[in-house]
Parts: sequence; C-alpha cells; structure tokens
Amino acid sequence: MIHSPHPATLQRWAAGARIAPLPAREGAAPPAISFEFFPPKTPALEAQLWACIERLATLRPQFVSVTYGAGGSTQERTHATVLRIVKETSLTPAAHLTCVGATREEVDEVARRYWAAGVKHIVALRGDAPNGEAYTPHPGGYAFASDLVAGLRRIADFEITVAAYPEVHPQALSPQADLDNLKRKLDAGATRAITQVFFNNDIYLNFLDKALAAGITAPIVPGIMPVSNFKQAASFCAACGTSVPKWMAALFEGLDDDIETRRMVAAATTAEQVRILQANGIDEFHFYTLNRPDLVYAIARILGVKPLTA
Ligand SMILES: Cc1cc2nc3c(=O)[nH]c(=O)nc-3n(C[C@H](O)[C@H](O)[C@H](O)COP(=O)(O)OP(=O)(O)OC[C@H]3O[C@@H](n4cnc5c(N)ncnc54)[C@H](O)[C@@H]3O)c2cc1C
Repeated sequence: MIHSPHPATLQRWAAGARIAPLPAREGAAPPAISFEFFPPKTPALEAQLWACIERLATLRPQFVSVTYGAGGSTQERTHATVLRIVKETSLTPAAHLTCVGATREEVDEVARRYWAAGVKHIVALRGDAPNGEAYTPHPGGYAFASDLVAGLRRIADFEITVAAYPEVHPQALSPQADLDNLKRKLDAGATRAITQVFFNNDIYLNFLDKALAAGITAPIVPGIMPVSNFKQAASFCAACGTSVPKWMAALFEGLDDDIETRRMVAAATTAEQVRILQANGIDEFHFYTLNRPDLVYAIARILGVKPLTA
C-alpha cells in the first residue's frame, strides 16, 4: 500500500517557512562559562559538591561562585566553601554577599576576610529576608545592592558582579526603575551582571536592547538553569518572577516518576536555549548547577567548551 502525506502536510512542505540553521560550529570560539554552587549542609552534600566541582573544573570556567543563604544564614558555610576552593583548586572563586540582617561594619568585615584570603571577586546582592518575609534594610546596614557595591569599592579593588532581571525584579517600582537600578549598580563599580534564570530568550534579548539603550555596556551574562525537576523549578520561578512557558510544562507533564526522560528533556531544551543565544552573539554563560555536574557539563560541551584533556 502506498502511503502519501496528508495534503496539509504536503502544503506545509511546499510553502512553509524554512527555518535557517544555527551557525556552523567550526571555527567558532568557545564561550566563557562560569558555574554557581551552593554551600553544602551535610558531609554527604559536601562530598557531592566536591565531586561536582572536580568534574566541572576540567572545563576551565572563568570563575565559580558560591551562594549566600537567605538572611545570611550560610555565612560560615559559604566562607568555608570559598576558602576550600582557593586552597584546593586552581579555580577563581567568587563569593556571593548580601546586605540582609547585618550592619555595614559586619558586611565589610566579611569582605575584608575574603580579600585577605585571596578572594577578589564578589557577587554583590541585596538578598531576601528569610522565610519569605518582606525585606527591610537592617538599620545600620547597606539598604540595596548598589550601596553594597559602593561599600566594597571602598574596601578593596574587588571584581564585582551584580544581579539583573530580564523579567523585572518582583519588588521593582517599574521596569524602568529596575533598569535604572542595574545602571546604578554598574555605575557604583560593578563590572558584570548575571541574570535571574529565564527560559524565554526573546525576553532576555529585548532586555539587552533596553539596557544598551540605557547606556549599559557591561556584560549581562545569561543565568542558565537546566531544569529536570520541573515542579521544583516552577515554584522557584513563581517566587522570583521568572515566567515558565506553557510548552515547558507540557514537555514535563506525566514525567514525575521518570527521572531519565526528564534529564533528557532538560538537556535538549537547555541545549536549544543556549545554542540560540550563542547564535545571537552571546559568548558568556553562567550556569546554576544546583551542585549537579552532568547536565551542565553536557551543555557546556554542546557550546564548544572542551576539557583540558580533550
Ligand atoms: C545571579 C543571582 C545570584 C543570586 N545569589 C543570591 C545569593 O547568593 N543569596 C541570596 O540570598 N540571594 C541571591 N539572589 C537573589 C537576590 O538576592 C534577590 O533577587 C533579591 O530580592 C534582590 O537582590 P538584588 O541584589 O538584585 O537587589 P537590588 O539590586 O538592591 O534590588 C532589589 C529591589 O529593590 C529595588 N531598588 C533598588 N534600589 C532601590 C532604591 N534606592 N529605592 C527603591 N527601590 C530600589 C530594585 O529595583 C529591586 O526591585 C541572586 C540573584 C541573582 C540574579
């Protein structure tokens, strides 16, 4: 029996728009990459983190950053993790630091300890209040990230990275006020921004256009999170103002108990996201690793990043 395509299919083949291919990889320089880790709570999680760091270190990231828990709750663990990176690896660490729950003097002291230990890169953030409470500045503290950036500048010649929000920070007075705030942080002495996680490339690329029009020329590095645990990611995104596309929810539907397929879907969707960004000229990527190396390692390879031994 001869099977012919449906007439509508034939019509699409004949008259549908042709999608241009992504640019060839040959000759393209690999992007600069960086990785974000969180400080572990238990010895087992610490072992997991170090296995993750060792695997990703072979990709020679520009820097690796370690987060600071809400309300400064991980101060000691963040510090210990960053220091271990300094002592035991050749990686360049960046320590996240927030304004929450501490006086300026206390925050300055943490920064001085970092500088003295050889940690010269700070990711300067306002932070959030613990347990979902509303943020109020500490009476003697830095109120906003721009104040912290200015404070760090007075302490030492840190490299300073700040946060950017392509979908607008949830507490911003307006998109314009949020963009003005990003400019304020860069004008105060930060040299790079990393974005909140996003899944819609158009939103990010439009944000870059607006930032350029506002006179921002510092790199605004996309923060990429390969999502394999969709439910967890969706609740995190709801809290931080990141929109989750309907197609993404549909792809993960019914896969709660199928980790393997979820991981393959995550790899495919993230690979598509970063390849399209790369085709749009983006040559720096920051990965939220969640202390798990495999997906991120694969995505970096797809971007053309090779380990030392390859
Ligand atoms: C890459 C990245 C890394 C992160 N790492 C951590 C981490 O390690 N630990 C952690 O706790 N959180 C972290 N966060 C989350 C971050 O702390 C929260 O998003 C927080 O709510 C805002 O921090 P910020 O530095 O962007 O704040 P800011 O830049 O200070 O902005 C906060 C809000 O205040 C507004 N604003 C700024 N200045 C003023 C002003 N003068 N008057 C009125 N409104 C103003 C801004 O528009 C914005 O809405 C990270 C976020 C990103 C994107």
